[in-house]
Amino acid sequence: SVPLAFYAGIGASSKKGILVKSGSDLETLHKVEHFIFDKTGTLTKGEFVVTQVFAEDKDFILKLASHAESRSNHPIALSILRAYKKDIISEDIKDYHEVFGQGIKVVYQQKPLLVGNDRLLINNKIQFEIPDIKYSVIHVAYDQKYIGYIVLEDELKMSSKETIALLTKMGKQVTMITGDQSAIADDIGKKLGITDIYSKQLPQDKKDIVESLSKQHKTAFIGDGINDAMVLLSADIGISMGSLGSDVAIEASDAVIMHDQPIKLIEVLKISIFTNRIVI
Ligand code: ADP
Ligand code: MG
Repeated sequence: SVPLAFYAGIGASSKKGILVKSGSDLETLHKVEHFIFDKTGTLTKGEFVVTQVFAEDKDFILKLASHAESRSNHPIALSILRAYKKDIISEDIKDYHEVFGQGIKVVYQQKPLLVGNDRLLINNKIQFEIPDIKYSVIHVAYDQKYIGYIVLEDELKMSSKETIALLTKMGKQVTMITGDQSAIADDIGKKLGITDIYSKQLPQDKKDIVESLSKQHKTAFIGDGINDAMVLLSADIGISMGSLGSDVAIEASDAVIMHDQPIKLIEVLKISIFTNRIVI
């Protein structure tokens, strides 16, 4: 049976906007030695802003990208649609396919359209050059031809740095796993004080990494709930944060942080430590 103090702990957590599913999760949390974070939408805002467009016809590439992204709820998709601002003609879009960790494959006005990262284009045998930029780059290929790329910039969340510093001070191990390119991931890691970084990881790879770390010690994975339901399940404690997460992600989580600030994690960790002290 679950000691009463855990119910008090769950109550205290929910007042702070953190939904903990069970008393045993609250008990496990204070034992976690290794905190593994997703990058986009978790440590960074995930609200990208389109800052540059490289293409012969800038309106055309944005139009193509927006039509491909119109059914996705990935932060990159939302930002491209914000930049386009015009209406989407949905009858023109067929065979929509979201390739996890890569982008969108779709048929637009009867011709194949690819919108995503370098891996998506390489896998589909498109000839192009990879630009050397520290920001997120989304490439567009239409009718098997390379059209150009869109540059998106993301920002750190306000409390990310403090959260990592506090976890480190508590003697916890911290890792960041991301589907993003190494240059971007390393730049974010440097700003946050995270040295253990896995970049260019597909959701399946993230799951494998978390699974293998969980064999060594108690882990928590903290993600925004986009494309990472199976990663949330692989950690001892899966925590999803923000409001973008799907029902599937909430289902897969042991705790849900209703705010978008990572510092909430420290609050629930303190409640877990305190609750366990009462029980002992
Ligand atoms: P992370 O949250 O770790 O960045 P994701 O798996 O959500 O990982 O995405 C990894 C990468 O895959 C993105 O940085 C982007 O390059 C590409 N990607 C994923 N979804 C999309 C999409 N809807 N449109 C374009 N690119 C995408
Ligand atoms: Mg993500």
